[in-house]
Amino acid sequence: MSTAWTPQDWKSKPIVQDVIYEDQAHVDRVLNKLTRLPPMVSASEVDNLRRQLKDAALGESFLLQGGDCAELFDYCSQEPIEAKLKVLLQMSLVLTWGARTPVVRIARMAGQYAKPRSSPMEMHEGKEIHSFRGDNVNGYDPSDRKPDPERLLGAYFHSAATLNYVRTLLDSGFADLHEPSKWNLSHVRSENVKREYEKIVQQLTDSLDFMKTIGADNGNTNALHSVDLFVSHEALLLDYEASLTRLITSPTTKEKKWYNTGSHFLWIGDRTRQPDGAHVEYMRGIENPIGIKVGPSTVPEELVNLLNTVNPKKEIGKVTLITRFGAEKVEKYLPQHIEAVRQSGHIPVWVCDPMHGNTKTAASGNLKTRHFVDIIQELSQTFRVHKDCSSKLNGVHFELTGDSVTECIGGSMDLRDTDLSTNYQTHCDPRLNYEQSLDVAFLIAKYYEN
Ligand code: PEP
Ligand code: MN
Repeated sequence: MSTAWTPQDWKSKPIVQDVIYEDQAHVDRVLNKLTRLPPMVSASEVDNLRRQLKDAALGESFLLQGGDCAELFDYCSQEPIEAKLKVLLQMSLVLTWGARTPVVRIARMAGQYAKPRSSPMEMHEGKEIHSFRGDNVNGYDPSDRKPDPERLLGAYFHSAATLNYVRTLLDSGFADLHEPSKWNLSHVRSENVKREYEKIVQQLTDSLDFMKTIGADNGNTNALHSVDLFVSHEALLLDYEASLTRLITSPTTKEKKWYNTGSHFLWIGDRTRQPDGAHVEYMRGIENPIGIKVGPSTVPEELVNLLNTVNPKKEIGKVTLITRFGAEKVEKYLPQHIEAVRQSGHIPVWVCDPMHGNTKTAASGNLKTRHFVDIIQELSQTFRVHKDCSSKLNGVHFELTGDSVTECIGGSMDLRDTDLSTNYQTHCDPRLNYEQSLDVAFLIAKYYEN
């Protein structure tokens, strides 16, 4: 820890995507309350994730990070939480099997409420209104767009309730996914693809049966019945993040360090990673592992600067670089980034987010969508570029949901442009649905096989 750093230092730096409230006294009351509320995650959990991400950075495990673009307070409910957990656990089982390495699981969940926007205002029925900034700022309904500080407290309590139910489920054996043979693959339209998936499911089932037979899955410590799952969100509202940042003795180093106790992992988005900006200033002081989104506009030298700022000791796996170039641009940009980072001596976790560079407007209207083929193309190109550069892709980052939404086009269920309106739910970016998420996991398992 840099001795001089405090969780409020970012206030002296230029900030983008800031929220302007009408009543500052109200904001102060809310922040005061947040400062007194108990931590949601512990320092030992955060340290544990740091260790797991170090393994990922060294190529000894694979990171799966996924969840909603914008979590809503309404998703804090039994079924959506179970559905999200189920899809993440099933994907991670397929990946563990396919990559033959342990999988580190981080959900975009229990706090992923704030969204950066391209413009703070938008037009609605001829009137200019605030853009929707996420449930912790304002409401999606056009009549509820005024930023309301009470929503910051709402974010805390909805995060805490979500995390509590996730922990309850995992403690109660929800991760016992012994029966992939019962997974429903009826959505898969192509017979060839179905046969391939069935082959993977069969092999997975056989492996699990074998472990059962030899007793490898008995005992309290067994990894099949209970798993670690960490939570993450974009660190966008710095007042909220700072109020949950506490000075705690690290169980690992026994030194006092600043931990963000609102989430295990936080990331800086593509719009807020200015090297001299407020978000980077906040992120450089916390002990949690952090992510940085890397896009076509990231200058390689600037990326190295950023790494030096947030991780001066070059601790392995402290930083996860989440690349999101778009299928057409990976080949052009990724090699320069890999090379610059290699030369700098930093060893990050390299993760591919094949969603954010591939957002398009659907032909059938003004819905935002993503094409499954673009997502798969960016993923496979990223795997290949890393290999060609003697590097290794250490993980993947998806926007997904466990529900049967129709937001992305394609996949084995062959969703068409004209199907999008059937169940288009997202209030922000389009997500992979349950089937498309499993498709992705099966395909990654295949890349690893080959
Ligand atoms: C996101 O992850 O939802 C997001 C806004 O991504 P990016 O910052 O990469 O655009
Ligand atoms: Mn998004």
